[in-house]
Amino acid sequence: MKNIRLRYAPSPTGYLHIGNTRTALMNFLFAKHYKGDFIVRIEDTDFERNVDDAIESQFDNLAWLSIEPDESFLKPIKKYGAYKQTEKLEIYKDYANKLIGKGYAYKCFCTQAELEKEREAQNARGIVATKYAGTCANLTKEQIHTKDGMEFNIRFRVPENKEYNIADIVRGDIKFDSNEIGDWVIIKSNGIATYNFAVVVDDFDMEITHVVRGEEHISNTPKQLMVFEALGWTAPTYGHMTLIVDENRKKLSKRSGNQTFFISQYKSLGYLPEAMFNYIALLGWSPGGEDEIFTKEELVKKFDEKRFSKSPSTFDVNKLKWVNSVWMKKIDDEKYLSFIKEFIDPKFEVSKLKEDELNGILMLFKKEIEYGVQINDHIGMFFTEVKVSKEDLELLKSFEYKKLNETLIEQISSIKFDEQSIKDMIKLIGLSLGIKGKDLFMPIRIMTTTQSHGPELAKTIMYLGKEKVLNNLKGI
Ligand code: GLU
Repeated sequence: MKNIRLRYAPSPTGYLHIGNTRTALMNFLFAKHYKGDFIVRIEDTDFERNVDDAIESQFDNLAWLSIEPDESFLKPIKKYGAYKQTEKLEIYKDYANKLIGKGYAYKCFCTQAELEKEREAQNARGIVATKYAGTCANLTKEQIHTKDGMEFNIRFRVPENKEYNIADIVRGDIKFDSNEIGDWVIIKSNGIATYNFAVVVDDFDMEITHVVRGEEHISNTPKQLMVFEALGWTAPTYGHMTLIVDENRKKLSKRSGNQTFFISQYKSLGYLPEAMFNYIALLGWSPGGEDEIFTKEELVKKFDEKRFSKSPSTFDVNKLKWVNSVWMKKIDDEKYLSFIKEFIDPKFEVSKLKEDELNGILMLFKKEIEYGVQINDHIGMFFTEVKVSKEDLELLKSFEYKKLNETLIEQISSIKFDEQSIKDMIKLIGLSLGIKGKDLFMPIRIMTTTQSHGPELAKTIMYLGKEKVLNNLKGI
């Protein structure tokens, strides 16, 4: 069987976001499932829209997600040609000239104004001019000769009355009528190939077997198929994934107001790459069954191109948070600690603590937080002066707390301040005052930690330290 080869072909007009990550990831999973190759190549012919550091940022973020290309311009294999389109401009031109030679393409000298005039004239004659309406398609060699030196586009001559059929992996058969497609430009007057032309040459040169991309590319596909056919090449198999929409069913994009859209944003909020990989793999694809938490290796194994969804997938931030919180618990403690330390706000002077103590504090929240920066909502009480909030003070007043407060101050001053001694002390106080359960733990928690919620109480008290806890108790 032919080696399976898929590619992710970003244009460096922007950074890696949820949408193009999904494309990269599905192509990666597809290739790796069949032990094939995953290629990243750059479609950089739209010079005006290129952003300087986009390529670097795309590669950095892909690497962070561990979507590793087997080939790219950083890891090229010579026989497949260049991995950046701007390095192939002459090759595209050569193929365009070949097409002209065979009659599949022609030079078009019309200006935009001339084209529009012709279209209007056709409309006036009652012809709905969906097709290119210029006149250059029928110029003789001699007529062309008289235009030497003039600027021209090269247009593909779209055959008449032909049906193009995509046997789409996601959607099944999609048919296009060639009469709906005008003769389109393959090389612009500035000599640069257009996307629909260059992509075919690249997919051929790189022996791409399958193309998985977003549904916005469906209408491009018949154009690409006609180039494959004209050049006598076999087209890859296509799959067009459904849209990713937000909670308002709008296409997920920066423009539709989705503020957190780029992978780098999730990275700096403290999402784990494993969780992002896991969640994005489930956008528009599913392995079936109830499970939702998968490692990269499991996803590679489970990948099945027949399981792409036919309806749009919703990007649900709350679900992503949940997936991340599961991964936070799943990673081992050492990894969690080094990860979480990156997100501590410098206003907390953690360097004042011994490593063990800091680790102990951070471990308290391994099961509490959904993503990295949330650690800062929790650790304030260990580093700064925190007062009990109004609501918690009200809550405290609903309990019998005065006697409890006095007893705690008395006992805490005298006990050894380790977890077990603190646990024993709480138990004994409960017994001697005749209170238990919430009536015991809630007021103690509020008075000692200044918070009504938090992780394991005795441990939290221990890490706060005797001095801070006494202060908190006396501040009530
Ligand atoms: N460069 C195209 C894009 O950014 C990818 C086209 C393709 O996958 O064929 O959408």
